[in-house]
Amino acid sequence: MLEVEGLQGWYGHTQALFDVSFRLPAAGCVALVGTNGAGKTTTLRAVLGLIRCQGAVHIEGEDVSQQPTHRRVRDHSIAVVHEGRGLLKDLTVRENLVVGNKEAAKRGVGDAIDLFPALKDRLSERVSNLSGGQQQMVALGRAVLRKPRYVLLDEPSLGLAPTVIDEIYSYLAALRETGMTMLLVEQSVPRATSIADRLCLLRIGRSVMNVDARDPAAVETLMGTAFGGEEDAAPSRTSSPTAAGRHTTITSLTDGPP
Ligand code: ATP
Repeated sequence: MLEVEGLQGWYGHTQALFDVSFRLPAAGCVALVGTNGAGKTTTLRAVLGLIRCQGAVHIEGEDVSQQPTHRRVRDHSIAVVHEGRGLLKDLTVRENLVVGNKEAAKRGVGDAIDLFPALKDRLSERVSNLSGGQQQMVALGRAVLRKPRYVLLDEPSLGLAPTVIDEIYSYLAALRETGMTMLLVEQSVPRATSIADRLCLLRIGRSVMNVDARDPAAVETLMGTAFGGEEDAAPSRTSSPTAAGRHTTITSLTDGPP
């Protein structure tokens, strides 16, 4: 069980998280959803202890809020699949799968291949030669080889074609079947709904709604709250950087130390 209560977080003096709370039960999957800039990635960083925070983070009942990142990850068996995948593009698939993981280097990459058979014939290939979908498989396979209790996934569908996203999500569903506990960042509510037990909606650094992903009426209400005429709450990352857009971003945050 991972529990976050009243989490606040800062980049330097700029507050980006104001009040985020959610519970992630063992073997469950919670998706953090919301528009660009809502604070989804920042919440993952805060859970990992990568930014300055206040508030409670409990893992397996232990207060980890004062622990450094490496202890949280090691002691609680957390694997992270970062946005952009974090692969070493000049290394081979096999090298990427086992990098920093002595156990896997000895044991072999069989578990990753079982989950992603498409990688079997590409193990000696440089990662830079792989498609975006295959690279995402390598990133997920690397996480799987750590045999983690928790997997934190930051927008695994980012930059992929819709058919490839479907494929990646079918793999994520298979991963869930293995009993892994997942915290997923996903901008698409339908995609999040396809895999998560609960959806936690973030808006401007606050968790404003938490619903059962299997309850269509609740999901619809969440979508209305997330995207219903609130476009100016968080300007799109892909929109042109107009002065108005920048202004909206800046005014959605609060300057000053805690
Ligand atoms: P996206 O889907 O675009 O990644 P998100 O919901 O993950 O959106 P975050 O990346 O967590 O949003 O950003 C939350 C807020 O924190 C935004 O206002 C963003 O501009 C700000 N922010 C994110 N990263 C940094 C950083 N490294 N330094 C300063 N501010 C940041």
